[in-house]
Amino acid sequence: MEYPRIKINLEKVRKNTETIVNRCDNLGISVAGVTKVFCADLKIVKAYMDGGVSYLADSRIQNLMNLEDIDISKILLRLPMISEAEEVVQYADISLNSEIETIKALSKIAIEKNTVHKIILMIDLGDLREGLFKDEDIYTTVEEVLKLEGIELMGIGTNLTCYGGIIPRQENLSRLVELKKCIARRYGIELEIISGGNSSSLHLVFENKIPEGINQLRLGESLVLGRETAFGNRIDGTFDDAFILEVEAIELKDKPSVPIGEIGIDAFGNKPEFIDRGIRKRMICAIGKQDIDLGDIAPLDEDIIILGGSSDHLILDVTDSKIEYKVGDKIKFKLKYGGILKAMTSIYVKKIYV
Ligand SMILES: *Cc1c(COP(=O)(O)O)cnc(C)c1O
Repeated sequence: MEYPRIKINLEKVRKNTETIVNRCDNLGISVAGVTKVFCADLKIVKAYMDGGVSYLADSRIQNLMNLEDIDISKILLRLPMISEAEEVVQYADISLNSEIETIKALSKIAIEKNTVHKIILMIDLGDLREGLFKDEDIYTTVEEVLKLEGIELMGIGTNLTCYGGIIPRQENLSRLVELKKCIARRYGIELEIISGGNSSSLHLVFENKIPEGINQLRLGESLVLGRETAFGNRIDGTFDDAFILEVEAIELKDKPSVPIGEIGIDAFGNKPEFIDRGIRKRMICAIGKQDIDLGDIAPLDEDIIILGGSSDHLILDVTDSKIEYKVGDKIKFKLKYGGILKAMTSIYVKKIYV
């Protein structure tokens, strides 16, 4: 099976990474390359490493297992499940944590394995996804962590713009730097890492406004798509087309734009609505919602309209295109983050590299 396929330009990924790593490096910030969007595919991981990332980071332990033979520090991004503590200690050098019970489970395994597992304590600065929220909880957790064997408190970190859409600013990120100072004063320890968020923190790097002391960012979307994610701006010197989806046309016919008969609910339980554009040239392509969300793809031929689809079909209106399409033609799309994620995860989408 050659199609549908996702074509990955490794040199563009490497170049994106190098450009962003250099910008961060100028401010003393190291980059953890986040691999979850492409299921830690080894060739793309190599492009990240050639681009100069200092760590690899993923939310799924299965993906980190895949990276076992690669000699670089690995970070587990999603808070560990207690039930996976053993694998976490085995395959991640560092994990992000907010629950003392989980950290105790990691400690127990680390002691058994005669090793030390590093943790970054997550602080919730208001986005309301993961992290310790109240000051008193932060200090009690730090105190308990410092007592545990087999665990090294490597740093503190935060994650923003993921659930609550909160934009990283000097004001909220400075709290991490303050916290680091308070921890140093109270407990006499210098934390090595202050991890200041994901691709939504990059705008502060570009504006030279990132609080001094933040020394790590965990970046995925910006490296693969060349954009910061607080405002969605493109990043100079990067590519937004390193990943291209190619699908094949399996039907091409002139048909009305409104279905004939009484309209009930579609295959996904929604009542569809239609715009009457008269008779149009419609194309069906062999890919569907099992592999892609229709809102996450954008045709390179800008005269194509995406009409909809079902599990295995994508329906396009190609009437306005300057190209005379025929059955068997390949249609190309740029992808949003969710599009890369789903296409890379789908076993029905072939991965090829250029
Ligand atoms: C996914 C993730 C990232 C990377 O986010 P991007 O927006 O892709 O840069 C960073 N940190 C955590 C905790 C994540 O889950």
